[in-house]
Amino acid sequence: MQENPVRDYFRNIWLTVSTILVGLRISLKYCFAKTVTLQYPDVAPALQPRYRGFHYFEIEKCIACDLCAKACPVDCIYIEKTGPRKIDKETGVAAGGLMTRYAIDYAKCMFCALCVDPCPTECIHMGNIHDLSGYNRESMIVEFTDLAKQGLQTPQPLWMQKPDSELPAWAKQRRQEWMEYAYSKDKLSSDKKRRREEMVKALDPKA
Ligand code: SF4
Ligand code: SF4
Repeated sequence: MQENPVRDYFRNIWLTVSTILVGLRISLKYCFAKTVTLQYPDVAPALQPRYRGFHYFEIEKCIACDLCAKACPVDCIYIEKTGPRKIDKETGVAAGGLMTRYAIDYAKCMFCALCVDPCPTECIHMGNIHDLSGYNRESMIVEFTDLAKQGLQTPQPLWMQKPDSELPAWAKQRRQEWMEYAYSKDKLSSDKKRRREEMVKALDPKA
């Protein structure tokens, strides 16, 4: 074909514009779509009902049977106790030996929830805390027995440790829910003080 500089000039312009438009076609489509971006942390993260976050542990119902640890595919649950524990059907609380350690290594945990289903007393659950972080591998091991000493069922991310004045409304509410054991639905649900006492009773004071 004979060279035609004018035709080539306009052809190049057309190719440049059309390839850019092809490349941007998907981006342009999303420019006019409804936005789904959340302004976290001002707005609460949109967690689905079956979201699997960091566990929460109801130590007062744990019978230290090790079934969760045996089911864990990566062996990241560590349990130590002074003796067997048995659940009292009347109160729904376990008694007997004391819990000296219940810990999960989140450097290994896959959040698969395989530890939750085998639990005979339904005391280990996947929670809604999604943003725990640390500076080394050791800090990824959460000692749930230490948390229970402070009346806590789940690890506290940094934002939970800030004063109310620095938190958005959803975060204040989420913290309040955890402080009031709002996710525990059992025989102690109406008595937070009693639950707190039973949590302490399950612990070995020497540990
Ligand atoms: S969620 Fe899965 S990996 Fe994590 S502790 Fe439970 S069983 Fe183990
Ligand atoms: S959390 Fe459940 S399965 Fe694990 S030791 Fe306690 S009672 Fe057993």
